[in-house]
Amino acid sequence: MHRERFAPSPTGRLHLGHAYSALTVWDAAQAAGRQFLLRIEDIDASRARPEFEAAIYDDLRWLGLSWPEPVLRQSDNLAAYATALDRLTTGGLTYPCTCTRRDILSAMDDPQEGGPDGPIYPGTCRAGADPDKPQAIRLKMAEAIAMAGRLSFAEIGYGPDGETGQIPVDPDWLIQHAGDIVLARKDAPTSYHLSVVVDDAAQGITHVTRGEDLFSATPVHRLLQTLLGLPAPIYRHHGLIRDEAGRRLAKRADDKAISVFRDDGATPDDIRLMVGLQAR
Ligand code: GLU
Repeated sequence: MHRERFAPSPTGRLHLGHAYSALTVWDAAQAAGRQFLLRIEDIDASRARPEFEAAIYDDLRWLGLSWPEPVLRQSDNLAAYATALDRLTTGGLTYPCTCTRRDILSAMDDPQEGGPDGPIYPGTCRAGADPDKPQAIRLKMAEAIAMAGRLSFAEIGYGPDGETGQIPVDPDWLIQHAGDIVLARKDAPTSYHLSVVVDDAAQGITHVTRGEDLFSATPVHRLLQTLLGLPAPIYRHHGLIRDEAGRRLAKRADDKAISVFRDDGATPDDIRLMVGLQAR
């Protein structure tokens, strides 16, 4: 069975950008006879709220989507991330890190330089970390690349610069633009990258359709999949919905919330047309 997923974070109301993404995933699944799954990415306990999760179900049902229950909620799946993290640690590929964001910025030559997750970690705690301070766990990127060997991923959509087809992962790019990524945060026993690859595999996701802002996370995901012996899904990155000024919609764009248009009397087909999709 082939499967697609939509994986929102319950940290705000879904807006037109989410509607475009969810409907693109849904339409692709319907057209190809793939199952559509929903996943709630709620590892950020400081921002995730039950009322936003309830609103996600409500907005998506209103748009005409349906999915099998129970929905996978990341906060219910922490044991699976711990197992994956253990495997990387046993392989000698992790180290604890007690640096704060400020420590990282002040250790950098050029704090403007950043990767998909913000500043690239300069590796300070590779030499040892204070066991009494709160710790994150990081990946030893260079060692991980050496262990994984040559990597590539299948892109059936487009990256931000039109990248498509079988895309080779450049090890130097991973070192310079991702670096020693966080696998477990100080405030959560996992991270976005680790949980996404574990969950995509656990849910049997064969096709990942998501925004092009996550294109630069895909090399990291292929690396972790390879290290953890997980299958590689096919990726399709799509363009982002922009506001009147051409800026991509922020994570919180409450004036563009689906519910705002819905309360104004818009229909699900109106939303489809607004984001450039065909009415049903
Ligand atoms: N939870 C992520 C977001 O809301 C999406 C993750 C993914 O599709 O890989 O941006």
